[in-house]
Amino acid sequence: MIATGSDAVSLPGLDIDEKRIITSTGALELSKVPEHLVLVGGGVIGLEMGSVWKRLGAKVTVVEFTDAIAAGADIEVAKTFRRSLEQQGLTFRMKSKVLGVDKNGEKLTVNVQDIVKNSTDKVSWLAHN
Ligand SMILES: Cc1cc2nc3c(=O)[nH]c(=O)nc-3n(C[C@H](O)[C@H](O)[C@H](O)COP(=O)(O)OP(=O)(O)OC[C@H]3O[C@@H](n4cnc5c(N)ncnc54)[C@H](O)[C@@H]3O)c2cc1C
Repeated sequence: MIATGSDAVSLPGLDIDEKRIITSTGALELSKVPEHLVLVGGGVIGLEMGSVWKRLGAKVTVVEFTDAIAAGADIEVAKTFRRSLEQQGLTFRMKSKVLGVDKNGEKLTVNVQDIVKNSTDKVSWLAHN
């Protein structure tokens, strides 16, 4: 059996450095609580990491392309899961696409497109180093 594990998917406009633009591996190794964590997609592992960092004090925003989180889960389960995460304080931007991240010194700006209105805005400033 060959089981060498998986690799994180990279996206255009996201230059993963495992310091400020991170995969789940980097999210397990952050040395301090980020001021604001933006999750690209509402997948289960990202949500698990987001829930942990939220409880440790980070602001957490989830940007999800579709209208449901936890792809593949029963729709009622996904809705209940989202409500529970909202009660924990996570914020959701549904039907929205991350276009990329602009770097401006120590700060990062996440560019987000609302795919229904076809409008683009900037979801957050990240101050984590
Ligand atoms: C944050 C996180 C949370 C998760 N939570 C869950 C969960 O709650 N429930 C669940 O079911 N799954 C969960 N998963 C997924 C689960 O961890 C993976 O599906 C599973 O570990 C995959 O097993 P694997 O053996 O294919 O790869 P891995 O567990 O990644 O193991 C691969 C191993 O192969 C070694 N290796 C790589 N290349 C070589 C080589 N050339 N020669 C020799 N060795 C090599 C690596 O060093 C590593 O030890 C989670 C994943 C992450 C990242």
